Amino acid sequence: EMETRYPWTKEVEHKLRTKFKLPNFRKHQKEAINETMAGKDVFVLMPTGGGKSLTYQLPAVCDGGKTRGVTFVVSPLISLINDQSRHLTRLGIPAIAYTGDLTQKDKNLAHEELARPEPYTRVVYVTPEMLTMGGHIKSILRSLLQRKRLARFVIDEAHCVSQWGHDFRADYLRLGELRKTYPGVPIMALTATAQNKVEEDIIRSLGIQGCTVLRQSFNRPNLHYEVRPKTGKIILEIVAFIRTQGTQASGIIYCNSRDNCENLAKELRDSHDLEAHHYHAGMSKGDRRKIQEGWQEHKFEIIVATIAFGMGIDKPDVRFVIHHHLPRSLEGYYQETGRAGRDGKPSNCILYYAFKDGKKILSQIDQDRELTRDQKERQKASMQEVLRYCNNKADCRRSQVLAFFNETFDPVNCHQGCDTCLGRDCNIFNTEDVSKDAVNVIKMVQAFNREDRITILNAAECFRGFKGNSGKMLNENPFFGVGKDWARNEAERLIQTLVIEGALEEFCVASAAGWTNAYLRLGKNAKAHLNGKTMMMEFRQASPRK
Ligand code: ADP
Repeated sequence: EMETRYPWTKEVEHKLRTKFKLPNFRKHQKEAINETMAGKDVFVLMPTGGGKSLTYQLPAVCDGGKTRGVTFVVSPLISLINDQSRHLTRLGIPAIAYTGDLTQKDKNLAHEELARPEPYTRVVYVTPEMLTMGGHIKSILRSLLQRKRLARFVIDEAHCVSQWGHDFRADYLRLGELRKTYPGVPIMALTATAQNKVEEDIIRSLGIQGCTVLRQSFNRPNLHYEVRPKTGKIILEIVAFIRTQGTQASGIIYCNSRDNCENLAKELRDSHDLEAHHYHAGMSKGDRRKIQEGWQEHKFEIIVATIAFGMGIDKPDVRFVIHHHLPRSLEGYYQETGRAGRDGKPSNCILYYAFKDGKKILSQIDQDRELTRDQKERQKASMQEVLRYCNNKADCRRSQVLAFFNETFDPVNCHQGCDTCLGRDCNIFNTEDVSKDAVNVIKMVQAFNREDRITILNAAECFRGFKGNSGKMLNENPFFGVGKDWARNEAERLIQTLVIEGALEEFCVASAAGWTNAYLRLGKNAKAHLNGKTMMMEFRQASPRK
């Protein structure tokens, strides 16, 4: 049946082995190739490292498809384009990197080549502005179309068209013109960004409604996920971890600012004898390239970077990704950790989390004058998801991350691949319904007066039946001590979770210079909890420690 529906099957399989030296397809690759060769639009969603490139590179070298000729690939970064076209050249596949970096002479050569009746070139990589700006390339595309030598358009990193994505690029919006300007030319959209909203944006913006959608699981079985409390000097902990990894293990440490990157890298070098270097957008292009290449070539192993470091980095053997600071969204977190373990070997993803860091970011978003109200709400919602993830020790990390991508994942298949599953499997943690305790905390906060100015810490003490030394009359609260079997850190985490869920909220008194004077009151979701409408599961340490 395959043979008749896809008469090019033999050619495709032959070229997979001879041109790409690969024994067989990975999931969805064959389907994507067949669909585009049949002239259909295709949307391919695969995690980073899944093998998206092959889905257009292989059709590009085949002659049996419904459309033939040159494959145009739109890609957002010149560095990506150069890497990819070099890769193809090495495989003996004629490719052109048509970017703003090209000299006029090279441009002319490219034009001449593509104007030939039967171009030798199979793949042309272009930046979106090159393609939509007009100029010579447009007349070449028109001529290729007329001569039936325009095989397909491929939109790599297609999430760049969406404002919901983490990498919106205005230039990508104009790619919607392709369908109208070059009717009948199939379009392929490739991305590793799985949110439904983003997918809808891509399909609508490119005008490829009705395309074949190929969606792959985002689970990365070889990555171990862990959230660690950020208390005191975590640098010693990080150093100890790195030393367990062996001297050849490459890793990325993500920080939230340029200064933090530079300082941490320096400290690792000067005080701990670890060859670490920083990378951020404030460095010159040349310096950045030098650092990236040195790291990729194993001249040194540890890179301390802002999220400016990431897209287009194709290093298979990254053994760990450490987040020294909180990511701004779970999606970003998935992408950043996704740079580990592309070779399929076990790799670690460690996220350092302090509740107060999260609150700081939320208030920074609120105070950012450059943001519209809409953008603020979006960013805060993303941040809240990160906090919920960090504070949730009851559920498998993997299922939490995948749920964000609308994927259902049974924790049984995590195989102790995250801190929560490991804890549960080793009977360190129990998961229990703590809805009653949650209600008690809310009622306790309700019973205080606003003037009592109760902090999260005070509330945890009161809940556990400790008078503390704040001088506040905690023991006069009718709920004093209702949670006397709770360990302190767990009680604090329960209250934090209630803040994140909006059952409680914090208010700042006077000029809120620091978060030190944030006090608790009921939040807008308190009622739902008090009515018993919301269930809360939490992990508790099996034998409570006080
Ligand atoms: P993506 O673009 O989805 O991030 P790539 O296309 O760069 O991923 O592929 C990632 C790696 O997987 C590359 O090293 C590639 O050679 C390899 N790869 C792709 N397809 C296959 C396959 N069918 N069999 C084995 N390796 C593959």
